[in-house]
Amino acid sequence: TEFKDLGLSSGLLKAVSENGYTSPTPIQEKAIPLILSGRDLMGLAQTGTGKTAAFGLPLIDRLLAENEHAQPRGARALILAPTRELVNQIAKNLVSYLKTTPLRVSSVVGGVSINGQIKRLSRGTDILVATPGRLLDLVDRKAVNLGTASYLVLDEADQMLDLGFIHALRRIAGLVRQERQTLLFSATMPKQISELARSYLRNPERVEV
Ligand code: AMP
Repeated sequence: TEFKDLGLSSGLLKAVSENGYTSPTPIQEKAIPLILSGRDLMGLAQTGTGKTAAFGLPLIDRLLAENEHAQPRGARALILAPTRELVNQIAKNLVSYLKTTPLRVSSVVGGVSINGQIKRLSRGTDILVATPGRLLDLVDRKAVNLGTASYLVLDEADQMLDLGFIHALRRIAGLVRQERQTLLFSATMPKQISELARSYLRNPERVEV
């Protein structure tokens, strides 16, 4: 399978080749067409398998397809990850994929000044990448409205549970749109992850690599 067979738009295919990706990884081959079709996804994959592009590329394409319609104020996609490092890595990859598009990505993590983040968020963003704790701080300060988000990605969900983010995740899941596409990635599949998937995913397709 080649990237051009997965259903991505020509703009995204250009970004893919500019990133030096010549052929899709197994998770990309399986996940990209599914996500483009609008399905919820439960992905069992480790870091290093190319999972950021597996959800990032089709997510960007879905957002671009909606771009012509009236745009809500506020983020349309929310990506949650357990650590600062991972959030920054995801945001960096997304920036390289959406260079030729009008979409904006912002990241929020703990351990840095919240005021700078509030200011940047006030200028608007399409995709928000965040750690759960700092995101809820921003929600409580009314700096973020999650009610416009119709895409939710939980990356390294098992790690987020290990770090004690379950209550934060439950609260956030109640704030994003109920009518949404949800993608959950985890390296392991303990009972709590299948419970999380049962609560927040709708008829998910399971992909394992
Ligand atoms: P990830 O698993 O998302 O952290 O990705 C691991 C690394 O693989 C990152 O540096 C990506 O830029 C890179 N990568 C992702 N997809 C591909 C691909 N299809 N071909 C080559 N490198 C890739």
